[in-house]
Amino acid sequence: MWCCLSQKRGVPDFFKEKFREYYRGASLELPQDLPFREVALQPFDADYYVRHLSFDSLAQLRDYISANVPRHLYYSSAKYLYPGNNEMSEKGWIGSDLVFDIDSNDIPDCGKYVIDFRFCPRCGYIAKNDEKECPYCGLELKKFEHVDKACIERAYDYLLKLIDIIENDFGFLTYKASFSGNRGFHLIVELPQPFDRMDSEARREIVSYIMLNDFDKKHIINMYMDDARRQKGLGYILPRVIDGGLRRRIALSLSKRVSDQDIKSFLMGYSEKIDYHKLAQLSELISKHIEEILNELSIPIDSKVTIDISHLVRIPNSINGKTGWKAFLIKNISEFELDPYNVSISGNEMLQLRILVDLPQIRIIDREFKAKKGDVIVTEYPYASYLVFKNVAELMSIRR
Ligand SMILES: [Zn+2]
Repeated sequence: MWCCLSQKRGVPDFFKEKFREYYRGASLELPQDLPFREVALQPFDADYYVRHLSFDSLAQLRDYISANVPRHLYYSSAKYLYPGNNEMSEKGWIGSDLVFDIDSNDIPDCGKYVIDFRFCPRCGYIAKNDEKECPYCGLELKKFEHVDKACIERAYDYLLKLIDIIENDFGFLTYKASFSGNRGFHLIVELPQPFDRMDSEARREIVSYIMLNDFDKKHIINMYMDDARRQKGLGYILPRVIDGGLRRRIALSLSKRVSDQDIKSFLMGYSEKIDYHKLAQLSELISKHIEEILNELSIPIDSKVTIDISHLVRIPNSINGKTGWKAFLIKNISEFELDPYNVSISGNEMLQLRILVDLPQIRIIDREFKAKKGDVIVTEYPYASYLVFKNVAELMSIRR
C-alpha cells in the first residue's frame, strides 16, 4: 500500500526515521581508543555542526545518535586527553591517525564522467551563468553534482596504489579503508607511537612523497633524460623493486612495459647481473617512459586532509547525508563493489518520487536514469535517496 508523508525542510521524516532505525543497530567502525576522540555531527535538520562530543562506548554513542539523528557523523583523527573540551588548545593533543581522502573529482581524465549544474528546486530553472538566485523565483540555486561509477572505480585503483605505499614504503599495517558514501574513499592509518605525534610539517612531507609535486617530477625526469650524462655512462642508479621507495614504484611500473625476461628479472631484483646491451635498452626505456610513469605514480589525495592533525573523519559505516548511502568499511581491500546492497540502509520498499529538474542521462550505481521535470518515478531506496538528498527529486509516497 502507498502511504503519505509529512514534509520537513525538504527531506521528509521518512529518511530521518530510516537513519534513526539504522543507527540503533549500526556496527559503526570506531577506533579502540574512542574515549580519546572528539565526536562531531551535523544534525539531520540543521546546517550547523555539533562538536566536542565524547563517548566511552559504541553503545553510548548509539543511544545519543538514535535520539539526535545526524545527517553526517565524524570522529577526530586526533586523540586528546580531554576530547570534550570546547577549546582546541585545551584538549590535550596526544597524537593523530594519518588520514587520506581520494575524491573522484580530483582524478585526472574524470571530467567526462562528471555532471555538474546549478538549478532552482521550485521551477527547475538551470543556471546558464554563475548566478546565485533563480531569476524567476528568487530562490537560492542548488548544486547538483554527479560522478559516474567508472570514475569512482578509478579512484578505487588509486586507493589500492596508496595502500601499497603505506604498507611497503612506510611499513604501516593497521588501517581502515572505506567508501565515502558519495564519490570517493577514505583511508585511516592508525599510527603506532611515536609516529602518531608527527606534526603537520612531517605530514606535508608524506603528502609530497605520495603526490609527487611538479618540482620533484621535473628533477627526476631531468636525471633520467640527461643525454650528456648518458653518453659518459649511467650517471644515476637504475631503479629496482628491491630498492624500496620511489625507485621501487618506478621499477614496478617499468616492468609492466618490458617484455624482455632478463630486463624484467633485473628490475624485479630476481637477478643481479644484466648485460651491457640490455642495460642500454633499459636506459632508453626509462628516458622514453619516465614522464608518463611519474604521472601514473602521482596519487591525487586531498593534501589539506592529510596535513591537518585535527581532521574530522567520516565514521566508516555511518550514513553520508549527501546521498543517504552507507559510507561502508571495505572489509577486504581487494574486493570493492559499488552495488545497491552495499550502500543501502533500507529494505525492499518502493519509493515514489517527483523529479524537480530536467535530468540528463545519468547512471546511479548500476541503473540509468533520465527524466524531465515533473516526471514521477518509482524506485528502490539507494536510487531514491541519491536523487532526494541531491535535491533533484522529492519523495511523494512509499509502498511497503
Ligand atoms: Zn525558480
